[in-house]
Amino acid sequence: MKKLFTMLKDPRFTLMSGKMRRFIQAPDPQSVRLNREGFTLGADIKKKAKVFPYMYLGTHPDPGKGDLYSPVYGEITDITERSVFITAVEPDDELRAKAEAVEKTDIRALDARGEELRPILKKMGLNTKSLGQECETLIVNGLNPDPGVTWAEPMINSHPRKFLLGMEMLRRLSPAKRIILAIPKGMQFDYPNIEVAYVPKQYPSSVNALVIKAVTGKERPEGVGIVGLHNIWSLGHVTRTKLPLIDTVITIGTLKNNGNFIVRDGSTVEDLLDFSGIELKAGDTVVRGGPLRGESLDRYDRSITKGAVGLFIVEQGTITPMEGHGPCIECGACTAICPARLRPDMLSRYAEFGLHDRCYEEYITSCLECGLCGYVCIARRPVLQYIRLAKRRLGLKLLSSSGVYTEMPAEHAEVRP
Ligand code: SF4
Ligand code: SF4
Repeated sequence: MKKLFTMLKDPRFTLMSGKMRRFIQAPDPQSVRLNREGFTLGADIKKKAKVFPYMYLGTHPDPGKGDLYSPVYGEITDITERSVFITAVEPDDELRAKAEAVEKTDIRALDARGEELRPILKKMGLNTKSLGQECETLIVNGLNPDPGVTWAEPMINSHPRKFLLGMEMLRRLSPAKRIILAIPKGMQFDYPNIEVAYVPKQYPSSVNALVIKAVTGKERPEGVGIVGLHNIWSLGHVTRTKLPLIDTVITIGTLKNNGNFIVRDGSTVEDLLDFSGIELKAGDTVVRGGPLRGESLDRYDRSITKGAVGLFIVEQGTITPMEGHGPCIECGACTAICPARLRPDMLSRYAEFGLHDRCYEEYITSCLECGLCGYVCIARRPVLQYIRLAKRRLGLKLLSSSGVYTEMPAEHAEVRP
């Protein structure tokens, strides 16, 4: 067991990269795939319609979900239940004139606060669910979500204007009396008017539930909310540009060699690999999200959407890939390392055999989705993937790097631990 915990002291598990280089804007993608699940599209948004950057595409009925905008000049090639596909085109004068006429909104000058500010931000394409959540204390999770992701430190220290604007607007929106920024121990921080709490710098301390515990000393304390730094960047970005959100920041590369880029919403993995000059070798795995909690992709026409944290190439031999669905050999490694004190071996077995209610009884809702169980599994079972599958089947919303799940089937509410 000691070996397992020594593993977490491995420098590869550090959440501090020391990288301070400012973000580089990636070129516009050639093809875009936007997530439109649940959105009602505007009347003109049809196949073959020409679009331009910041053109309004649709609205979601959820007041906490931002409106959808086109990130590029292009033509809509397909619309499905889940996606809007756009192929980039060279703009003619008419399209260029439309883009130049997009109205800017100075949300800072509007002086709106709280519930009054929320619909304005929604219109700017921002998701406000976690930014405006009801709580007494709001913690901003300022750590890189996964080892290998490196945008958190430059987001705070190399882009101070956007960071400070984001924090200013957060104060206007949030009902919280106290806002605390959680950052890793040892990180440089020079903003006197922001309350800071230092938390351990080794993974999994960036997982929301563990950040809350490190800051407050309590598990699941009442009246405490958490929001990701990515959301603060988005808030600062739209405040600064005065334009709707069509960008996100991600880390692209391998665990060792990577950089941070501002990329357009809906950029395809194919375009991003091409732009980064990454050549895949046999046995490499492409991961959308962080190396530990992300999902491996077998198709590169998938896209990066707002809130995605990275695009990684896990090179052959770096981490032993999952191999099929081999049996659990009951080594106990996953149970020993689980920060939520769960039995990942049992959860994954129940999920494998469709016994989802048993997963519920084994407290699957307490799983933090840190991915350590799968990482240490010498049988290379896809433990986290099984857990996510069971959560989905139980109707639980999956955790993201910046959110907590909220949906729970009524019949399970009473047995929640
Ligand atoms: S992902 Fe695995 S190790 Fe992490 S909390 Fe969930 S069960 Fe435990
Ligand atoms: S680490 Fe893998 S093999 Fe070992 S008990 Fe857990 S699931 Fe089973």
